[in-house]
Amino acid sequence: MLTPDAALRRILDALRPRAPLQGERVPLAEARGRALAEAVVAGRPSPPFDNASMDGYALRAADAPAPGAGLPVAFDVFAGAPADRPLPPGACCRIFTGAAIPPGADAVEMQEEVERRGRRAIFRRAAVKGRFVRAAGAELREGAVALPRGAVVDAGAVGLLAALGRTEVAVHRRPRVAILATGSELVPVDGALRPGQIRDSNSHALAAACREAGAEPTLLPIAGDEAEALDRALAGAALADVLLTSGGVSVGERDLVRPALERAGFSLDFWRVAMRPGKPVAFGASPRAAVFGLPGNPASALVTFELFVRPALRALAGLPGNGRAVLPARLAVPWAKPAGLTVFLRARARVEAGALWVEPLATQESGHLTSVTGHQALAVLPAGAERLRRGARVSAILVAPPTLDPAAPSDLA
Ligand code: AMP
Ligand code: MG
Repeated sequence: MLTPDAALRRILDALRPRAPLQGERVPLAEARGRALAEAVVAGRPSPPFDNASMDGYALRAADAPAPGAGLPVAFDVFAGAPADRPLPPGACCRIFTGAAIPPGADAVEMQEEVERRGRRAIFRRAAVKGRFVRAAGAELREGAVALPRGAVVDAGAVGLLAALGRTEVAVHRRPRVAILATGSELVPVDGALRPGQIRDSNSHALAAACREAGAEPTLLPIAGDEAEALDRALAGAALADVLLTSGGVSVGERDLVRPALERAGFSLDFWRVAMRPGKPVAFGASPRAAVFGLPGNPASALVTFELFVRPALRALAGLPGNGRAVLPARLAVPWAKPAGLTVFLRARARVEAGALWVEPLATQESGHLTSVTGHQALAVLPAGAERLRRGARVSAILVAPPTLDPAAPSDLA
């Protein structure tokens, strides 16, 4: 059976020819979190003109070579209103942060270092050429690459794009994901339950996880455990880049998903991974789309999504890795597990005396949704190990920031 690492490698290898998806132009306000499908070039220098980085006085540095120099104040320059004439020789001007340095001036002195006596300014220290001047093009020369293709647009990048006058930008398309819940016991979330039925929770949990991963989910109608129902439902996934099914991939006689996927044109690469939860997880592809056959148990579906689907969706969107920090951690309680499987415990994570500790949630039942909410980490218990003692070294996939040691010093907390 494949290890989780090997399974992920096969998934990413299979997706490489189709990732990232092509670009689309989006308004600036929709670019956050997306990967650029173009290199953004500065159409003009940044800053566009020499300007003051402090409130103070602009001058020629040579006119105040030693402490105590006094110069007449020729005029005031405010941000947004450049001077209409050059700075006369032997004079200075009042200037404010962001205002254009007038021709002739080559330095700014901050107002704290200047004493004002009527129309004259007395400089308490020698001026230094270029001090408190933000030179045109110092950040970006005209034609320089401001943001490379593939850069992830964060708030700072949105600011940079705005500064460059970009109202639209090309980003990689979000993967479209069709989600199909299978099982004759399932009822939509707003449906009435008859004996033996449960609500379909997987579709909604998986849709939420898709959005978190930067993808666009659509829910297909639930399909019962009948070949024709599955065939009909799968036809509805024609426009998706990725199809997610849940349920029906184990070995029970009602597990009809695998053959249905094959009839729909997918060739399956694997359908078992040596892990818990989530052993029955399938992956395959058709010329148009990739498919993940996720287990029906809610925790198994979400854990396999985290490990396999999330990195796949990010690769399609042009985003790097799985977007999670993976850190060495210590297990807060002893744990016994089957030697053949990699076990992923949903755990609280806390930093204590500089070490990261993971403490499994009270329930790890794959059928319990409470086993997959409120956790900060997946603690990875490696195959090969059978009994882990308290304090054992494991790795932790952080799905949320850990709780910090209250004793640790921080200026921000
Ligand atoms: P299966 O993989 O189809 O054998 O399903 C395993 C378990 O997960 C069963 O108890 C199912 O009732 C449950 N299950 C399957 N699909 C869903 C779903 N969409 N929402 C909630 N539970 C599900
Ligand atoms: Mg089922």
